[in-house]
Amino acid sequence: EPALDAAFFHRWLTAAAAAISREATRLTDLDSAIGDADHGSNMQRGFTAVTEALEKEPPGPPGAVLILAGRQLISKVGGASGPLYGTLLRRAGKALGDAEQVTVRQLADALRTGVDAVAQLGGAAPGDKTMLDALLPALDALATDGGSFAAASEAADKGALATVPMLARKGRASYLGERSIGHQDPGATSSALLFAALAEVASS
Ligand code: ADP
Ligand code: MG
Ligand code: MG
Repeated sequence: EPALDAAFFHRWLTAAAAAISREATRLTDLDSAIGDADHGSNMQRGFTAVTEALEKEPPGPPGAVLILAGRQLISKVGGASGPLYGTLLRRAGKALGDAEQVTVRQLADALRTGVDAVAQLGGAAPGDKTMLDALLPALDALATDGGSFAAASEAADKGALATVPMLARKGRASYLGERSIGHQDPGATSSALLFAALAEVASS
């Protein structure tokens, strides 16, 4: 199994920042339909801070890279998504410890720990029309025998699309009640971008 080193995590977060920049307008448009029209700018601010911090500090092991990124998201993003994504990355980073290289399986397990912490912090369940509806299917696909980052990315895309008919039960979109139905969740969409970036760097 290929080992993932700090440079891989560096490339992942850099590719994620680029994808978020490219799609920022779309994320904000989705959030304008069922939220407060700031998800693109929130994510862009957060991931710009992540790439700047990574350039400034020596990379350290994979776990330290994720903890550094999570800390930036928590401190730089005002919206709900900052603490949630920040918690995901920090907890995943902690789970990786100080290993210089990690396997895909170890990363999958660490991300599971991080996503569990997101569910705990935000109190959302699958089907509540949140980022979890992309994150959980992605992790399930990755945990499957022969699971790959490409399969995880595909599952995250499907999960994000599947939020369209859902009724939002958490976050700002829940204030709309039935009117949240028929729109794709912005956070599930950005989660799919994070997995797309992972698949992209793994295949290059
Ligand atoms: P805010 O809603 O504070 O403006 P953002 O627009 O950046 O923050 O992020 C909104 C996204 O955050 C939603 O689309 C949803 O996916 C996610 N989200 C909001 N609340 C929760 C929660 N309690 N649990 C999981 N995800 C949530
Ligand atoms: Mg918002
Ligand atoms: Mg906001």
